[in-house]
Amino acid sequence: MGKVLVIGAGGVSSVTIHKMAQLKDQFKEIILASRTIQNCKKIKNKIKSKFNIDIKIEELDADNVSETSNIISKYNPELVINLALPYQDLNIMEACLNKNVHYLDTANYEPRDEAKFEYKWQWDLREKFVEKGLMALLGSGFDPGVTNVYTSYINKHYFDEINYLDILDCNGGEHGQHFATNFNPEINIREITQESKFFENGKWINGIPLSEKKEFDFPEIGKKNMYLMYHEELESLVKNFKTIKKARFWMTFGDSYLNHLNVLQNIGLTSIKPIKFKNTEIIPLEFLKEVLPDPSSLGKNTKGKTCIGTIVTGLKDNKTKTIYCYNVCDHKKCFEEVESQAVSYTTGVPAMIGSLLMLKKIWFKPGVWNLEQFDPDPFIKYLNLYGLPNKIIELDEPLDF
Ligand code: NDP
Repeated sequence: MGKVLVIGAGGVSSVTIHKMAQLKDQFKEIILASRTIQNCKKIKNKIKSKFNIDIKIEELDADNVSETSNIISKYNPELVINLALPYQDLNIMEACLNKNVHYLDTANYEPRDEAKFEYKWQWDLREKFVEKGLMALLGSGFDPGVTNVYTSYINKHYFDEINYLDILDCNGGEHGQHFATNFNPEINIREITQESKFFENGKWINGIPLSEKKEFDFPEIGKKNMYLMYHEELESLVKNFKTIKKARFWMTFGDSYLNHLNVLQNIGLTSIKPIKFKNTEIIPLEFLKEVLPDPSSLGKNTKGKTCIGTIVTGLKDNKTKTIYCYNVCDHKKCFEEVESQAVSYTTGVPAMIGSLLMLKKIWFKPGVWNLEQFDPDPFIKYLNLYGLPNKIIELDEPLDF
């Protein structure tokens, strides 16, 4: 009981493994497999020196299904926790099906050659997981993840029906770099340069990337500009809560960040179309990733807070009301605890919590599921217990934009 295989040894993985090591009675054996063994060793050494726990490490290319299946056979874990990149999701799920093991990830599948993410490919595996009695939990990070749980918690405890949903993601932190992303630069830039998209009255409405801006006064941070974007949890939330009439996702960006991004886009460095360089083909965005700061190196110098939450307007006893549920997370405190900044922390902790609920069978049903399809109460309880407490307030009126 409690043997897990973690795939990927980046910023999020390091946090998840720290949090699992804090709960060594639940996570009795941890195996970490990733593309670059050196990055596995770094995490292994930290865990050994802080907790005196030995984790096993393996080099693995998770794009290769049979390599992943072999590692699963070698260790026979109960659960595979995919903290690599979205490109690997389908292959890792296939290996889990081959070897009869449960699956969890934090981001939905994306094809490498198209910046497009949607759940369809992973939801299509539902029958196969059901047939084998296996469970896959999709998107157990913060957004997606906690934002899905906040929505279902608010729906369960505050409303008869929910109608308007806004997810607000603010990073009020400063890292002292001219330009850096908070998590994997390649995945992050693909996400924010996509067309914006929101849901209204049964339809998706597309727009120019980062063209709609609003100001919002974030708790413990203050006023920031946030931009309308598309984010993957909207797809499952509007499917699972049929009373939602409008659903949007907003993220804050500073002017300097956006100026840098514009320049990089204008000169073609964010493109994912291969180009010839000397005698080889390179993808400009992959090259850009290599020259940008590694997000896991930012933790030490990052100050300030994140505030991510969900604002829901709906009906209770035929009266309209608006509830805001959010978490504020301090970059410095995260670094003191796990040597990572708050963006990795807010993703890595929910990955540990989703895993814990699956291992304890508190959340368990065969199939492929999003987080809002389970009872939110135990997840909220663990968020409060393990480092991401939430606050819930009633707003005087709905968001007026
Ligand atoms: P990093 O780039 O820091 O880490 C990714 C890790 O995956 C690296 O160790 C990398 O290896 C490894 N990897 C990449 N390709 C392969 C492969 N083919 N086989 C094995 N390992 C591989 O990313 P983050 O830690 O920032 O993000 C991890 C995941 O979390 C991403 O999917 C991201 O989208 C998601 N995320 C989710 C959020 C949420 O709130 N839901 C928020 C933030 C991130 P190498 O060391 O060689 O580079």
